[in-house]
Amino acid sequence: AAQEKAFLVRQPRSRALHERARQRLAGGATSSWQIAAPQPVWLSHGVGAHVYDVDGTEYVDMHGGYGVSVVGHAHPAVAAAIRERAGRGTHFAQPTEDAIVVAEELARRFGQPLWRFANSGTEATMDAVHLMRAVTGRDLILKVEGCYHGHHDSVQVSVLPDADEVGPAGRPAASASNSGIPQAIRDLVIVVGFNDLDAVHRALVEHPGRVAGMILEPVMMNAGIIPPLPGYLAGLADLLHAHGALLAFDEVKTGLTVAAGGATERYGVTPDLICLAKALGGGVPTAAIGGSDAVMGAIADGRYDQVGTFNGNPLAMAAARATLTDVLTPAAYTRLDALSARLAAGIRTKIAGQPWQVVVVGAKGCLTFAPETPRDYRDFLRVDGALSHAHWLVQHNNGVFLPPWGKSEQWLISVQHDEADVDRFVDNVGLFVAALDA
Ligand code: PLP
Repeated sequence: AAQEKAFLVRQPRSRALHERARQRLAGGATSSWQIAAPQPVWLSHGVGAHVYDVDGTEYVDMHGGYGVSVVGHAHPAVAAAIRERAGRGTHFAQPTEDAIVVAEELARRFGQPLWRFANSGTEATMDAVHLMRAVTGRDLILKVEGCYHGHHDSVQVSVLPDADEVGPAGRPAASASNSGIPQAIRDLVIVVGFNDLDAVHRALVEHPGRVAGMILEPVMMNAGIIPPLPGYLAGLADLLHAHGALLAFDEVKTGLTVAAGGATERYGVTPDLICLAKALGGGVPTAAIGGSDAVMGAIADGRYDQVGTFNGNPLAMAAARATLTDVLTPAAYTRLDALSARLAAGIRTKIAGQPWQVVVVGAKGCLTFAPETPRDYRDFLRVDGALSHAHWLVQHNNGVFLPPWGKSEQWLISVQHDEADVDRFVDNVGLFVAALDA
């Protein structure tokens, strides 16, 4: 309560903007998930690894704009590419050469030959679901309980269900995660637990010839961070293919943050389809979907029209090109891994003796207030939300900006963070532990 009070007292301008926003922005924010408690923080700018709020407070940014800003803020190479493109026109609805360069680079990193662009993670996963259905001629989709894939109908199912909505273990219920999702859509989604190959096998056997494919995050995020158990991802590919179904990795969060070629590279399993967004545009909205000749061929030969006025927008492609070729180099990933390791080791020292977990995968990480690292969403339900919120407040009140989404969100380190930035986070964990002990 003291931390919450301190938070509100130090943000008078943010509070005033919030009041003004409520008159014209529904709910006082530009996206419903920017409202999370105690109130939105209104930022004025970001430079390097730091962001600044309208009250003049500087923070180490570990939020990364919900996992976008692995290049940090106002990176000189990305800013120069944006400026240069802005001076030559930002939209034609005709492709520019940058789109080819970006697709070539993605093909190299992710080992899939054909790519298309979209504008958000939602669009990329929507295209993936449509494509799996278009290519197989089947309607059912497998989805993992607790995975978020954006806000189109088919995937707003069992995203963050409460304990009384989840149904029996092994056969999770397909609960609606938003209003406006018809039962008819939910009937086409079979929900399975993360890391549960048996449930996938059962679903395929119980619905012979009806499952188009499965979409999942290869490392489950949006529920803290839940890594795949050894053999899980390869097992999924084998099972699905044996039943004529497809596998789509939603790498919207993992894509350019856990390795140069995302979880696809890190775990050595190449799915039929890969969805990217968030970090791809270096802070400019864009997304991509890539896959095999067999699947993306359905776009090439016109069986599936993958469309969008802003797809491959020149400004987005210029920013993505600079992000991939100038900023996220092999050396950048080596540095991100080293900073992550320093951060994890520092936190582990501070929380020695506490029943909490530090989970780090590449530049993403989280502190999980549970005695064991969750293996699936059911485990994640046991994470202590009150401790997660209190930790967020202590970090925020001591100059570290984290995603304000309770126990489920992760931090992101950028290429512009340095040792002092991650050490601030570690010091704050020490403050948090001391405050709990006091
Ligand atoms: N997929 C994953 C794994 C995500 O985390 C998100 C957003 O948080 C999305 C898809 C949706 O992306 P967007 O918000 O760009 O539509």
